[in-house]
Amino acid sequence: MTPERLIIIGAGAIGACLAYELSADPRYQITVIDQAAGPATGATGAALGVLIGVLCQRTKGRFWQLRQRTLARYQSLIPELEAAIGQPIPGHSGLLKLVMDPAERPGWEQLQAIRRQQGYDLELWDPSELHDRIPGVVADPFALAVWSPYDRQIDPTALTQALVTTAQQRGVEFCFNQPVQNLQRSGDREIVVNDRACDWLILSAGLGSTAIAQQLGLELPMQPVMGQALRMRWPNDRWPQQVITAEDIHLVPLGDREFWLGATVEIPPDQIAIAPQPEYLEMLRSRAEQFWPDLKQAEVLQAWQGYRPRPLGRPAPVIERLTDWPNVIVATAHYRNGLLLAPVTAAIVQELLATAVPPSSPAMI
Ligand SMILES: Cc1cc2nc3c(=O)[nH]c(=O)nc-3n(C[C@H](O)[C@H](O)[C@H](O)COP(=O)(O)OP(=O)(O)OC[C@H]3O[C@@H](n4cnc5c(N)ncnc54)[C@H](O)[C@@H]3O)c2cc1C
Repeated sequence: MTPERLIIIGAGAIGACLAYELSADPRYQITVIDQAAGPATGATGAALGVLIGVLCQRTKGRFWQLRQRTLARYQSLIPELEAAIGQPIPGHSGLLKLVMDPAERPGWEQLQAIRRQQGYDLELWDPSELHDRIPGVVADPFALAVWSPYDRQIDPTALTQALVTTAQQRGVEFCFNQPVQNLQRSGDREIVVNDRACDWLILSAGLGSTAIAQQLGLELPMQPVMGQALRMRWPNDRWPQQVITAEDIHLVPLGDREFWLGATVEIPPDQIAIAPQPEYLEMLRSRAEQFWPDLKQAEVLQAWQGYRPRPLGRPAPVIERLTDWPNVIVATAHYRNGLLLAPVTAAIVQELLATAVPPSSPAMI
């Protein structure tokens, strides 16, 4: 049987995860094309890799289902990749959320009850219990801590590199330094990407997807939402061992007193990328110091930033087969949750491919 040629545009977390998951299917001969010199150079390389699923407030509907499916796949995916590359992928199991406002307690108790019915046991810790478990790290004025052993954090670049390496082991070809500038139809259903023909095209180029989609006649407006983050060194020996999130600020321990702190959310007025604003970073630090007073003495080792791909006029992410181009699937615009949703995105794309007309069939377009 002749394999079906499948091209993925983009080697961020989404494209790399697609390549790995689809490479298990012998029907496809897969090529990944990226304009950068290597994987994870876009939003993925800037991300903190915090995967909030069970701790999110959604309990039903599309968003909850996506989270539930993706966390389930992560449980098997990480050991699978680690076995394949022969080394651990840096990350943490479990996530601790600090709740500052006592008025939110009933809402968290309700979520705990719902999650129990769904098969997840969330732990609610009072301040005294939190201080016993993490002595001296957290400031006093908070109401509650919620511990989820099901959520996790994963190093985004290491994960993406592991996905690329294992996909390559399974025969996927990665072509770097190749910006996709030209898409054309050839014959009944072939698509030519730059000068490569394929039977299936998957568009997962993050913010770069907008310009490529235009060539397909698809309007896919996105906003580049700036996020800044810091790598810091804790000033003493009592640094947190677990990932902690408080009011949308994440603290990710890296070992040896180092940690990531992030990230700002800087929404531009339109679709034009804006430069990082220093005052947002200042605000991030001063808010974080309210939760972790020791941070006032912490040394900043590195600062970085990236743009999140946020779709305009529709919810994130966009995962769909195009009506006019039935052999093109768009899997992009994951905004703040691309690392979280990479595995479920791959699963949905697999389902879309399974229900599509194969290339050996009569003309589709
Ligand atoms: C500071 C920050 C913190 C974040 N924290 C988290 C977090 O904790 N958890 C989480 O789940 N998400 C987080 N995110 C969001 C996450 O980073 C994104 O949702 C995710 O990385 C999107 O992945 P992607 O593969 O779609 O895009 P990208 O990583 O941007 O990859 C797109 C790829 O497409 C390539 N490309 C673009 N245009 C072209 C072209 N014309 N031709 C060829 N190649 C092209 C690019 O070179 C790039 O490699 C964060 C983002 C930021 C900025």
